[in-house]
Amino acid sequence: EMHVQDAIQWFQKTNEKIQQNKDYLTSLDQPIGDGDHGINMARGFQEVEKKLKGAEYTVVSDVLKDVAMTLMSKVGGASGPLFGTAFLKMSMATKGAATIDIATLAKGLEAATEGIKQRGKATEQEKTMIDVWSPVAYHVKEATSIQSEVLKEVAKQAMDNTKDMMATKGRGAYFKEKSIGHIDAGAASTYYIFEALAETLK
Ligand code: ADP
Ligand code: MG
Ligand code: MG
Repeated sequence: EMHVQDAIQWFQKTNEKIQQNKDYLTSLDQPIGDGDHGINMARGFQEVEKKLKGAEYTVVSDVLKDVAMTLMSKVGGASGPLFGTAFLKMSMATKGAATIDIATLAKGLEAATEGIKQRGKATEQEKTMIDVWSPVAYHVKEATSIQSEVLKEVAKQAMDNTKDMMATKGRGAYFKEKSIGHIDAGAASTYYIFEALAETLK
């Protein structure tokens, strides 16, 4: 079960990981992008942490909504509106629930994934963040309980799987076959989001 405090902790942990891996995320975006993903995410999640610290919440969906709005307005680049849409859809799908159980979490993650797909006009296997969101959403939907280590492993494997894909959406698509052999930057930042979730739900 996820309470308001857990949700806040989820995003504090995410921010910590994004800040720690800022240079790594940027380096992933260099060979098949424009080398700003770490900078974009670090700025966005810094603001998320600030926003959550300065507010009071009674329901998880309001935390998610503030995360979404902050990412949309503070993250430059393609990833801002996409992560923003994800957390906004998740907020809408979990609206009003004081605590989030596994079924509600599954519903939220499914809505988030669908939101990213629609917003980015993309689907699985196109070497984007969707390739982590989608398998994680599916895993949580099929699971009967959250096992931290398993959740983390599913997300990690999904991120690693983007290495062999050819990008057909986002800046990576300009590199065609040359995009193969690199982990997608947005898939990596999505991995940190779910690693943080796994650690929060432990
Ligand atoms: P930009 O490409 O504008 O510089 P970022 O570097 O912050 O933005 O984010 C790039 C990441 O966004 C990619 O690694 C990919 O995961 C994700 N992305 C880009 N375009 C799409 C899309 N159409 N659908 C889903 N994800 C996308
Ligand atoms: Mg970029
Ligand atoms: Mg950019």
